[in-house]
Amino acid sequence: MSGTTVEVPSVLKERPTLEVGDSFCFACGPDRACFNTCCADVNIILTPLDVLGLSRRLGMATSDFLTAHTVRLETKDLQLPVVALKMSEAEGRPCPFVGPGGCTVYDDRPWACRMYPVGMALPPARAGEDPRPQFFLFEDDFCEGRRGAGAWTVEQWRRDQGVLEREELESGFRALVGHPWFIGGRRLDEGRTEMFFTACYDLDRFRSFVFESSFLDRFILDQELVGKLENDDLELLQLAFRWLRFALFGEPTLTVRSHRPSPRRRT
Ligand code: SF4
Ligand code: SF4
Repeated sequence: MSGTTVEVPSVLKERPTLEVGDSFCFACGPDRACFNTCCADVNIILTPLDVLGLSRRLGMATSDFLTAHTVRLETKDLQLPVVALKMSEAEGRPCPFVGPGGCTVYDDRPWACRMYPVGMALPPARAGEDPRPQFFLFEDDFCEGRRGAGAWTVEQWRRDQGVLEREELESGFRALVGHPWFIGGRRLDEGRTEMFFTACYDLDRFRSFVFESSFLDRFILDQELVGKLENDDLELLQLAFRWLRFALFGEPTLTVRSHRPSPRRRT
């Protein structure tokens, strides 16, 4: 099982492409002889929401989850950091979350696992154009699901698997990686690359940055929002995307306070 937004053209070369309304057959389940065989030795790129959902499910801080369960990679084209799920060291390199009954983190399974057997590639950013996703089908011989009777359109499949809802929540992430700032070969420097990694993937560390640095003094934020940020991960993730657009690309997505308040005094 795999699916990625990072290797665009080569992924599409030898695979049948699909439009959103095109249909394909697929039916997976424990009755299949291949059940669970796809959850091993596989390259699964995690989105920010995947990292967050799996960390919370496992009761781990995002930094601890990233250390224990992911490998940090870099996209070939933009040299942006991405994280891949680390397979276990056991024979056959099974996913750490696969059990005899299937996926043990099913409700929080990653985007790539939800999408399979559909893959998606995003073309490089072009000025004035929203990158249009290109869909394709994985045709793995070991997967009996493709021989199933159920017929799905790409749209129906993505909705059924909860992909559309999740993509909406992290549309700010896709806007970052497809940002026109990158057109012409511009790349982030090391410091900004680290900002990108922390804000997108290590949300607990980003929360500390918001509350323990001068962030709340530097920027004007709605007080109701500030009240939510301490406990609401999804609000914080949206702020992270806004902050990255401000910090990396100089967009006015945050308002800087013109006069900083005097330092807070302890009484
Ligand atoms: S996260 Fe779940 S669905 Fe994805 S590879 Fe692991 S066990 Fe399989
Ligand atoms: S049908 Fe395909 S996706 Fe389902 S368990 Fe078998 S190999 Fe995995």
